[in-house]
Amino acid sequence: MTIGVNCGHTKSGTGSGAVGIIKESEHTRLVGYALIKKLQAAGAKVVDCTIDRADTRQNCLSQITEYANREELDWFISIHFNASGEHKGHGTEVYTYKGRQYPDAAKVCANMEKLGFYNRGVKSGSGLYVIRKTKAKAMLIEVCFCDNREDMEIYKRVGAQEAVAQAIFNAIYPYAVKPEIEKVKEDKLSFVEIVGQTAQKDWKERRIVLPSVVIAQAIKESAWGTSELAKKANALFGIKKNGWQGRTYIKTATEQRADGSYYQVPVTEWRAYDNWQQSVLDHNDYIATRSTDGRKTLRYQPVIGCDQYVLVCKYLQECGYATSIDYADSLIHDYIEKYNLTEYD
Ligand SMILES: [Zn+2]
Repeated sequence: MTIGVNCGHTKSGTGSGAVGIIKESEHTRLVGYALIKKLQAAGAKVVDCTIDRADTRQNCLSQITEYANREELDWFISIHFNASGEHKGHGTEVYTYKGRQYPDAAKVCANMEKLGFYNRGVKSGSGLYVIRKTKAKAMLIEVCFCDNREDMEIYKRVGAQEAVAQAIFNAIYPYAVKPEIEKVKEDKLSFVEIVGQTAQKDWKERRIVLPSVVIAQAIKESAWGTSELAKKANALFGIKKNGWQGRTYIKTATEQRADGSYYQVPVTEWRAYDNWQQSVLDHNDYIATRSTDGRKTLRYQPVIGCDQYVLVCKYLQECGYATSIDYADSLIHDYIEKYNLTEYD
């Protein structure tokens, strides 16, 4: 899930917002960036739609919506502070398109009310440019009135930007963030399970590549089964055709030079499979039989049957399995140790 956060107005000059007891432009940023931190820490992707400078107010608004519409957002959230003529207005209000009572928008108001602010409710913001022109579900939050003494006392007392950001985060997390985070977690677990079972069974039968290393390679090379090759060709390892008689899939290859720079090889033929299990078994076949000198020697001889994951990763790298310079280190630290993959060995 991706959430766009806009910290209200420009930093200074035209369209920089209300100035009361505190400055709107300053505190929209304090609240907005505290919220962004919390969302990112929870695993959400955030697009910062804040514009610091613009010649005109309209220019600022159209830049904000342009940022917001550049990506598929699940929520667009714009943070503001209110002000009123007599400085008497107080409380929190949230604007949505046609005043739609999204549960998370209503919860923002409810959580702010718990902090002590008056709940002015979810209202129609169809007249607001950033609500009307953003493609995503959008809410504009008027945190409270920056020119009202009472509101400013509550704001300070409860912990200012930290408390407000937490109230907003708590409101949207269960609806916009949690379901997807849990789904990603489940997908990862089931990916490890599918690859792990096949790798473990094959290790018991043929003792070619240690299961933890096979799983780590599969995760790294297929991005947990989400890569183009994994999806379209059931190929988890990106093994090129190299004498393969079966089905192939054509796609550009990206290779790394010894100096670290990258280059592209278009129209590369890759092995394609009926399912991920087949891909795992073929990967082990490939390691067990690959020879570049007409079968006199096996390219991955040290890898075969080795039961020390650190050594297996090192040997893979040394035998030239991947052109990427930090391939072995990454397998060991980013995957095997991080996800406890040795359980499968
Ligand atoms: Zn404003």
